[in-house]
Amino acid sequence: MAGGKRSEYMPSEDDRASSFAQIPTSFGHELRACLRCRLVKTYDQFRESGCENCPFLDMDKEHDNVVNCTTPNFTGIISVMDPTRSWAARWLRIGRFIPGCYTLAVSEELPEEYQALCADNNVHYVPPKRT
Ligand SMILES: [Zn+2]
Repeated sequence: MAGGKRSEYMPSEDDRASSFAQIPTSFGHELRACLRCRLVKTYDQFRESGCENCPFLDMDKEHDNVVNCTTPNFTGIISVMDPTRSWAARWLRIGRFIPGCYTLAVSEELPEEYQALCADNNVHYVPPKRT
């Protein structure tokens, strides 16, 4: 990437195209959160491009995976522009994920077969805390 790190809050359109997750195009009922990384996008966006943090879930190739690995039941959304420097991102354990919109909490666990897939890919999965 040319230009290196910027000091402004908002990255340029160029940066966003290359290293940002898709931003949800609508905030209606079709909005879903990835059960593994909590990225929030619309159902169609997950179906078309998968999850930017979890390509091994193959949501763009196997559309059942979108249904199985994302949920419409989540609480709150924050958008993170620079996860490595955001205390909120560290607190949410998304510090190493790409910038995008994330939910604060999902209530469901990733199904076991997909948890196994995470393990196969050396991906750390943190199940939601039971409350
Ligand atoms: Zn994900």
